[in-house]
Amino acid sequence: MTGAAADTLNKPGTAPARTMRALTLVADRKIELLEVAAPPAPGAGEVQIAIKAIGLNHIDVWGWRGMAFAKRKLPLIVGVEAAGEIAAVGSDVTSVKPGERVVAYGALTCGQCKACREGRDNLCENVASIMGFHVDGFARDLVNMPARLVVKIPDGVNFRDAACAPVAFGTVQHMLFDNAKLEPGETILVQAGGSGIGTSAIKMAKAIGSTVITTVGDDAKAEKAKALGADHVINYKTERFESIVRKLTGKKGVDVAFEHVGPDTFNGSLLCLKRGGRLVTCGSTSGQSITMNLFQLYLQQYRIFGSFGCSLRNIGESLAKMAAGLTPVIDTEVPLAEFERGLNRLEGRQVFGKIIVTF
Ligand SMILES: [Zn+2]
Repeated sequence: MTGAAADTLNKPGTAPARTMRALTLVADRKIELLEVAAPPAPGAGEVQIAIKAIGLNHIDVWGWRGMAFAKRKLPLIVGVEAAGEIAAVGSDVTSVKPGERVVAYGALTCGQCKACREGRDNLCENVASIMGFHVDGFARDLVNMPARLVVKIPDGVNFRDAACAPVAFGTVQHMLFDNAKLEPGETILVQAGGSGIGTSAIKMAKAIGSTVITTVGDDAKAEKAKALGADHVINYKTERFESIVRKLTGKKGVDVAFEHVGPDTFNGSLLCLKRGGRLVTCGSTSGQSITMNLFQLYLQQYRIFGSFGCSLRNIGESLAKMAAGLTPVIDTEVPLAEFERGLNRLEGRQVFGKIIVTF
């Protein structure tokens, strides 16, 4: 080992240990906290991050349950979304220094293709894998990453909040502003407003001056959604959200529908749109397939956006929002060893906001 990497690794407070903790999915629904080999010093173009916080997302639940179509091998270190501190850098890395706080992009994009060069990282033509889903993720003490895939955390944003930037905030930022192009004064329907991305969407939409209608599954969540600033909250278990949205909008419908629930709500969300309205979706937690009325689609001139992940720019925008005071809603913080308790809570839809795993 030579050069800056060796110097950095020898500094006190970085990680001289040869083993580290890693939360490892060993079988479907079976996660163990294992001692595994620590990564080598970062190579050229790489940084080594000491992980401080992980954000849980539905993709973690999918991964934990097991997905027949996902190409991957167990054991697999979990964790898709993370914040940490630079522990060491490769000899040629000048963009970040040891001790700086960063979040990491959650997919190993190529950095070379047209989409990557244009900053549309989530449309990379050669994306290798999603961290924590296809390949080893962030739920470990140390991880080596390409330096170009980390984004610095601004002063005043803590690790817990920053850990929500790469997936939760980044995804919502991309959905609302790159895809649906939500504008001040427009009305948006946010489905499942109590979820990690639902709470983020409510706050981001209110922050630009949109009117927010949201759905939740119980009255306690309704109170919390109102406290976040939602203008109208509908308990979808006791009321038909389609009819209420029509009433609230004087039969016109909303400008934008924010979807991630899937079959249970998708056609209802379409019905809530005004003519020419936009539906943006990033998830399908209630299933995979629906039947759609094509007459309605073209006569009403709906625009439907599929959205997955975000760009590096969106992560920077998300962190900037946090620094300006628009922070994520945190449901629970659990220690590393209780990761599965967090997953159980997320799967059971008991959450209001994000679940964070701390190191
Ligand atoms: Zn690429």
